[in-house]
Amino acid sequence: MQRIYLDANATTPLLPEVFEAMRPFYLEHYGNASSIHQQGQHARGAIDHARESIARMLHCRPAEVVFTSGGTESDNLALFGVLAPGDHLITSSIEHHAISHAAQSLESRGVEVTFLPVTVQGIVEPTALLAALKPNTKLVSIMYANNETGVIQPIDALAGIAHAGGALFHTDAVQAGGKLPLDVSAHGFLKDVDMLTLSGHKIYAPKGIGILYVRRSVRLAPMFHGGSHERQRRAGTENVPGIVGLGKAIDICNDWLKTDGPTRLAALRDRLEHGILSQIDETGVNGVGVSRVANTTSIYFDHVEAEALLIALDLKGLSVSGGSACQSGASEPSHVLTAMGLPAARARATIRFSLSKLTTEAEIDETLKLIPAAVAHLRQLSPTYKKAATLVS
Ligand code: PLP
Repeated sequence: MQRIYLDANATTPLLPEVFEAMRPFYLEHYGNASSIHQQGQHARGAIDHARESIARMLHCRPAEVVFTSGGTESDNLALFGVLAPGDHLITSSIEHHAISHAAQSLESRGVEVTFLPVTVQGIVEPTALLAALKPNTKLVSIMYANNETGVIQPIDALAGIAHAGGALFHTDAVQAGGKLPLDVSAHGFLKDVDMLTLSGHKIYAPKGIGILYVRRSVRLAPMFHGGSHERQRRAGTENVPGIVGLGKAIDICNDWLKTDGPTRLAALRDRLEHGILSQIDETGVNGVGVSRVANTTSIYFDHVEAEALLIALDLKGLSVSGGSACQSGASEPSHVLTAMGLPAARARATIRFSLSKLTTEAEIDETLKLIPAAVAHLRQLSPTYKKAATLVS
């Protein structure tokens, strides 16, 4: 059975070109980048090269790129690196747990935290941020694109407000990376962003590598204590193959963004969305009517338990998620969807489809055959669906 993978927001496949770029750094050029000999210097050169690729993509200085082990570490470093007891942090109620749980931990250590609400479409309103700012607000952290709905936040407006209020601004751009242009320069959309998180395994690079962009003016305390790697911002021997893979993946994403790839991907996502909505009643899209990244759609199927649906689809060869992958196995409805005002039953009936740039039209067409059959089967077993059908007839 040829499986169909529509779970790219959980992780993307590693591109063969990325793997090939990494391979020599496992087998031949395995030197430690801190070593003075030629093998060490070869590794150092490869890290510098990758750092330059990433800086070109972000329109920043290479020295402003800090390599980490991934999105979770970068998010934690951004928060723990600048906040101290007595400071105020503003974040949103739809962040990934890498931010929200870090914020809760900081709260227990004396940092004041405000979780901003979102609209029914999943947007953090700039006016809400303005109202929440206080003289001790040190940092505002709002994600760029949401991992469950794909909804894009008005980061330029939010970061501008944070700066005007004297606060730093961080954005978790894990789900925007490779999907939207990222420009932190003085002329860019992200000109007021001081720190930005990216993760390798969401952009066709391996797991276990990420970056935190840190503007030169930001004073960041390290979380790990050890060597003076990454200009004292992140101690630990560099993951050279991972860094090389990330640099290569970012070059590929940058080229792809200049092609019709994003438009093609959005068209495939829309085809999936329209196909589902036109064939199945009592369904809807979460976060409709606002800007979303091209690959994501979050759809509720009333009277169906998402977990049962995704298991049924899995058995048919289709990989999707209910809410976010990190929450699978948890019985709580998604905090993102409930923050958007969805009733718990509808949040529990939601499936996230996230396409990759390798997704084909044939796969979408096959998906559109599998889903109506699986939903109809589960609804036959649903007491609430039968009741709704009886009321109508
Ligand atoms: N932030 C967002 C928005 C994510 O979607 C994820 C992963 O799903 C993370 C952070 C964590 O990234 P990592 O898996 O690299 O730790």
